[in-house]
Amino acid sequence: MSSLSGSADAKVLLDAVRRAGVVGQGGAGFPTHVKFETRAGTVIANGCECEPLLYTDQHLMCAHAGQIVRALCAVMAAVGASRGVVALKSKHVEAARALTGPAAAAGVELVLLGDFYPAGDEHILVHEITGRTIPPLGLPREVDALVSNVGTLVSVSQALDGLPVIRKTLTVTGEVARPGVIEAPLGTSLAECLDFCGGSGIPDPVFLVGGPMMGRFLENRAALEQAVVTKTTGGLIALPRDSFLHQAATLSPQVMRRRAATACIQCRFCTDLCPRYLVGHGFETHRAMRAFAAGADAGPETEQALLCSECGLCEMFSCPMGLSPRRINALLKARFRELGQRHQGPREVHPEQSDLRPFRKVPTARLAARIGIGAYLGIHPEFLGACSPKRVRIPLSQHIGAPALAKVSVGTQVEPGDLIGECPEGSLGAHVHASIRGVVVETGTFVVIEGA
Ligand code: SF4
Ligand code: SF4
Repeated sequence: MSSLSGSADAKVLLDAVRRAGVVGQGGAGFPTHVKFETRAGTVIANGCECEPLLYTDQHLMCAHAGQIVRALCAVMAAVGASRGVVALKSKHVEAARALTGPAAAAGVELVLLGDFYPAGDEHILVHEITGRTIPPLGLPREVDALVSNVGTLVSVSQALDGLPVIRKTLTVTGEVARPGVIEAPLGTSLAECLDFCGGSGIPDPVFLVGGPMMGRFLENRAALEQAVVTKTTGGLIALPRDSFLHQAATLSPQVMRRRAATACIQCRFCTDLCPRYLVGHGFETHRAMRAFAAGADAGPETEQALLCSECGLCEMFSCPMGLSPRRINALLKARFRELGQRHQGPREVHPEQSDLRPFRKVPTARLAARIGIGAYLGIHPEFLGACSPKRVRIPLSQHIGAPALAKVSVGTQVEPGDLIGECPEGSLGAHVHASIRGVVVETGTFVVIEGA
């Protein structure tokens, strides 16, 4: 263990969180017991939910305000923090109301932010709350901060009561008969989640898993049936196949390069509105565009792509020519990963780039209108309850790190909460637990359980 090994608070928390298989719910699923193994002066509960149309975190803040504050205080004690903050948007009126009492009683701050995108990006949020910039590719701890999503904190609170992560809350919206926030056992098919909300009323829909800005598309019902709820699933959005978002997501690299070569006017709006540039990162995406358009797939200009968070603002909002800097950066990053190439450039921060930041925040409503989802902004999905699948297909890898090792075999009877996948000793990873009562009928990269 690290410098925390002497802290009883830290040991109790880390052990409970590790046993419960908690991973970060707001991102790629980094194991929480590893993330919390640090020291930090400020702990921020991230309730900003900046993706348009999602209400998952807002529901959790309303329904579990006390648990979020309890977990925040436990994390503060474990990492030695003197400041605790719950950050959400001022438009989250009901959530703020629910949190006010518990936060005041515990002595933690409630900070209400404006409605801009991407307020929930860790780098942006830490800059908002502390005024400090995490260096490019850095972590909040480099500026004495720790950020945890409010959904993760609900799971942390439950872990302290000995309850493992076996369910996930998600928003189902868009072209859906009965848009709602629902709870689903891990491993539930996303098609079953859609059906729980009355299905989609349009012919031939496509489906976004996650939010409109950073989610990934599933092309049809068959793909939806194969995809399952995991610890990081926050949203499912049904959209028409000809929607702007789907068209943008399906452009080929060849078309993106041709368009970049013929239409990029080097206006640098993609850079000047880039949230990472605006917190002071030395990252100018228009230069990566210029190099990519000229045919370069490697070199110091394209290497900057490694600093891109893939928030999508440049291609969904900033670029007047409808080009795809985000997807091109993602393409370049994937290529660098294949080559094993890491960022070689400087990591210094340029504070002067932040001077114009207050005037360059992109309002969520304007963004939603630009990307063709304005019609769904008025939907306020209500909590519809929990769905009860007869069969679940639980991935042994729902997190960053090594997949869990199956602890069950075909024929094993399981109860909700039983350990079915164990984090390999000494590895980065997370435990996985049964989400329903039943019998194991298949094991491999998934554990399939048929309900009793
Ligand atoms: S905003 Fe678009 S046109 Fe302008 S520099 Fe960036 S990619 Fe090129
Ligand atoms: S996706 Fe675009 S706006 Fe977002 S960090 Fe990358 S370059 Fe900047």
